[in-house]
Amino acid sequence: MTLPASKASDPRSIAGLPGGSTLLATTQQQISRAAANLNLDPAIVAELQHADREIMVMAPVKMDSGEWKYFLGYRVQHNNALGPYKGGLRYSPNVDFAEVRALAALMTWKCALLGIPFGGAKGGIQVDPRQLSDDELYRLTKEYTRRLLPNIGEHVDIPAPDMNTSDREMAWIVEEAGRQLNRPVPGIVTGKPLSHGGNPGRKEATGNGIGTVTVELLKRFGKAPAESVVAIQGFGNVGRHTALYLAKQGCIITGLSDISGGIYKADGLDIAAIDAHVATGKLLDTYQEPGVEHIDNAQLLRLSVDVLIPAALENQITTDVVTDLKARSIVEAANGPTTLAAQDELARRGIPVVPDILANAGGVCVSYFEWLANTSDVTWTLESTRTELAKTMYNTFQTVRERSQATGRDLRSAAYEIALQRVAKAMEERKEGRKAAE
Ligand code: NAD
Repeated sequence: MTLPASKASDPRSIAGLPGGSTLLATTQQQISRAAANLNLDPAIVAELQHADREIMVMAPVKMDSGEWKYFLGYRVQHNNALGPYKGGLRYSPNVDFAEVRALAALMTWKCALLGIPFGGAKGGIQVDPRQLSDDELYRLTKEYTRRLLPNIGEHVDIPAPDMNTSDREMAWIVEEAGRQLNRPVPGIVTGKPLSHGGNPGRKEATGNGIGTVTVELLKRFGKAPAESVVAIQGFGNVGRHTALYLAKQGCIITGLSDISGGIYKADGLDIAAIDAHVATGKLLDTYQEPGVEHIDNAQLLRLSVDVLIPAALENQITTDVVTDLKARSIVEAANGPTTLAAQDELARRGIPVVPDILANAGGVCVSYFEWLANTSDVTWTLESTRTELAKTMYNTFQTVRERSQATGRDLRSAAYEIALQRVAKAMEERKEGRKAAE
């Protein structure tokens, strides 16, 4: 069997994207490496290097000024061998097909690794949401939903919040989809407000999941949370809830940052006070506390800590950062925060990295709980959500660790191998089914 080559001229190729992002190339490489370790059928690997479907929409929006503006929206559906496509929707000026393609593939691996019956997808709108009023964002979200509608659905493709989107945008999508389809469709997105069928623990889920695996990782060093030092890049939904969880466990969080810069305090920052400051809409550059020093993001990434948690953007941990790295370990809260070259250098130096597809999978895990409640008879309380999430994250961490120990390969390789094996098996069985039907 010869593999179809990934060509730059193939617009659906994950590998050969014109101007393809670093993240895309990294995702591609991870799959190739895991597939080689597993000795997988090349035809299946080739299929997994492409998305099943890619959609681009143009959303016209009447601005408050009366002027019309046009926004590009994307949705990439990578693979649905294990269940409906599932993945976030982000608003960012940098969103393009390359980024969304890579993130959609990551969702496939994340859901497979966790053992939840979803495939992988991702969407985005090329917009700087800070430049739009709330009314303009509302009209944009509704227009994007209308244009995307035939391709999303409770059992088709289920968006969720991601960078710069939240339960507010999810509520707008549910409302617009319900209006267009003339029936309530709460299961068409997850991460909704409780009033629209959301789960009480969804907002904190990604951060709590990251907290759970961080505490497990610390145990590997023989360290109790109260004697562990942590720094977190990004103080949005994920960074904030990670910090709150770890502070509650007793961790000493010495460094935090957001888009405005970072703050550092050697004996630990007051996370509750910082949370209250940010809740008023302020950024970290205006935070004051006795003993706090203001630092930049480059310094934050080079702090001497037990665990460094990048929870903002992709491609933050580069080889330059690794050269100066003083962190003992990394937990990837953001999607794709480490470049491929940096990953190799970290592996060479034996620095443990909990990969994104494991560390930040808590969000999609609780999204699954929410979707189950919307589409069946199950109900969840905050307590049952937290318990089941912690159990799932703990078990998945142990499974990945055991495979890593058994193979002698790093946690990332182990996680990808488990995920890829599950997706490949489903694809093979589907193929068998097709053959039987012929
Ligand atoms: P968010 O928009 O709520 O927060 C992003 C944070 O990053 C903000 O604090 C922002 O100021 C900061 N930031 C932006 N640019 C920065 C820069 N150059 N340097 C430092 N900080 C910067 O987004 P989020 O939902 O917290 O998502 C963060 C990451 O986690 C993304 O990679 C996202 O894909 C991933 N993720 C999110 C979820 C979820 O449930 N929200 C789930 C899985 C993965």
